[in-house]
Order: sequence, then structure tokens, then C-alpha cells
Amino acid sequence: MVKTSQKTLLIISAAAVIVLLLIFRTGKTPLVRAGSANVVVMNTIAKIIAVAPDEQIAQSAIEAALKKVKHLENLMNRYDPNSQLSFVNRQADKEPVKIDKELFDVLRQSIYYSRLTAGAFDITVGPLVDLWKKCEEANSMPTDQQLANAKKRIGYDKLLLDANQFTVRFTAESVSLDLGAIAKGFAVDKAIEEMKKCGAVGGLVDLGGQIGCFGLTEKKGKWVIGVQNPSKLEDNQTVIKLALSDSATATSGDYRRHYKIGDKQFSHIFNPATEKSADTLSSVTIITPNGTAADALATAVSVLGAERGIELIEKLQNTEAIIIKAESKEMLKTSGAERYILH
Ligand code: ADP
Ligand code: MG
Repeated sequence: MVKTSQKTLLIISAAAVIVLLLIFRTGKTPLVRAGSANVVVMNTIAKIIAVAPDEQIAQSAIEAALKKVKHLENLMNRYDPNSQLSFVNRQADKEPVKIDKELFDVLRQSIYYSRLTAGAFDITVGPLVDLWKKCEEANSMPTDQQLANAKKRIGYDKLLLDANQFTVRFTAESVSLDLGAIAKGFAVDKAIEEMKKCGAVGGLVDLGGQIGCFGLTEKKGKWVIGVQNPSKLEDNQTVIKLALSDSATATSGDYRRHYKIGDKQFSHIFNPATEKSADTLSSVTIITPNGTAADALATAVSVLGAERGIELIEKLQNTEAIIIKAESKEMLKTSGAERYILH
């Protein structure tokens, strides 16, 4: 009798040890990291990294993310005559145009950021973008007349959204929306949603400097993201490194995209109030939980300049800015930015 119960106890103990070992092993199963090739999309280069329990999940997360980014590009590219945005730009001054929920969401958030930034961020800058492009081709500065004509077509107050019908309508003729300062950040957020749905436990989506990350790396570390040194473009030097998790960052600058007229360079970011290009800051990096916000605010701070820009970002929760001035190359940071910087 005693012997049997000892035997049972032994079997139970052995089984418990096996179960514990199994739990221990599964907990330790190494995570897999997969990375995409450099893919050209949204007029920039996309790089995606997925961390997942196995290679197949990681690859499917990358594929789903890229598919989403391409879908959003097809909706929001103003240079593609077949995009929904192009249809809106042609038609919305004549009648309300019904649009997809994702495009509607970007327009709704764009108006939010216009209001938040006193109009520094404004997706109705399309006519200015076209004008400066033409001027660069002709190698001549825009005339006052041309700028005045563009001005008539600019202003986010000319945009009417109907959230019940999912329609957009312009209240003036020839308004032209340009989502260059928000679509990439929005796509980062949506791509990350897709990766999570696929079962990725960590990842990073980089759309030309609009970057979002979630979870941790396969080595359980934060994601390290370099911020380009605007004065050292040739060898891609970084000026600082950020360590982030479940966060987004975007950098706007005058160093990669700009207009050249004569021997002068002009930023591709415009101040909607003056129609001039915003040239006082070389680089603006925003760190905030959401990619859409990071993208829009980086452009807005470029327009607002150092003082007003920092003042705005200090007021926003969980949002930080790192700014490099154009002339002095002085670096300014908001009060909480330091905690993201890797030393
Ligand atoms: P990047 O495209 O390098 O991320 P931004 O996010 O700053 O740079 O976006 C700049 C683009 O946004 C410009 O090329 C133009 O298409 C558009 N844009 C320019 N000025 C503004 C502005 N004040 N508000 C909103 N969009 C703008
Ligand atoms: Mg941007």
C-alpha cells in the first residue's frame, strides 16, 4: 500500500517536472526577426522589420504591412490621376465626393492638426507645391501675382467633411489637397495594425523617416533609431540615436527634398500664411505614440520655427521635439526629449 502511493507520488512529481520544463522551454523559444528589402513606395523607401514566434508569421506580417502601405498610396497619391485623392481634387469643388473611410480619416485628422497648429499644418498647400515645382523647372522665382493666385486656393477652412456620408466638399474652386506631410505617418500606423493582426510581437515600419515601432526587438531590447545629421548627408551620419518602444517618430527637414532656383535652395515645406518656404530649421524630429501625429507635427514645427514650435510641443502630452536650426546648427530639445536619447 505504502509502496504504491510512493510510486504514484514519484510519477506525479516526474510529470510536474516535465510540464515545468516544457513551460520553461516555450517561454524561452527564441523569437525570429525578418526584414523586408528596401521597397520604393509613397515616393520614398520603405523598410519593415517584424519580430515573431516563427519565420512564417514574421514574413506574413511584412507582406501585410507592405500591402497596406501600397493600398494607401493608391488612395492618396495626388500625382496618380487614378487615385481617389486625384478624383477628389478634380471633383470636390463641384459636388460632395464620397471617399473611403481611410482617406476620410486622414482628412479629418489633417483638419485637427491644422487647428492645433494655428494653420501651420495645412493639406491645402497643393497649389503652392505645384507652383514651386514649375518655378524650379523654369529656374525663376514665383512672382507676387502667382503667389497671390495660389493664396486664393489655400486654407483648410475650404474643406467640408460630412462624417455621416463620408464625403468631402470644397467651398472654393481649384482647391488641391496634398497629403505629403501626413500620409506616410498614417500609413506607418496602419501597417503596424496589420503586423499585429498577423501575430507579430514586435516590429518597425520606416517610411522614409516616418517610423513607428511596437513591442521589442528579438533580443528584447528597444528599437534604436538614428536621426540623420543634416550636415553630413554623404556618409549618412546620425546626429543622435533614439531608443523607442511602442512609439513613433518623424523627421522633417530641408536637406533631402527641396527646390533649387538659381543657386538658392528652398525647403519643400511651405508656410501657408506667407506662401514662402519654411527655411529656419534644418531638421525637426517629433517623438510621440502615433505616426500620424509625428508626421504632421514635424511639418508644423518646421513652419512655426524654433520658439513657437517648442512652445506648442511642450503643451502636448507624451510628445517631444528635437530641432536643429538651419544657420547656427544649434540643437534644441523639449523638456522630456532626453529620456529617448541613447548616450
Ligand atoms: P517628408 O515628405 O520628407 O516627410 P514632410 O512630412 O515635412 O516631409 O512633408 C512635406 C510635404 O508636405 C511637402 O513636400 C508638401 O507636399 C507638403 N507640405 C508642404 N508644406 C506643408 C504644410 N505647411 N502643411 C502640410 N503639408 C505641407
Ligand atoms: Mg513627413
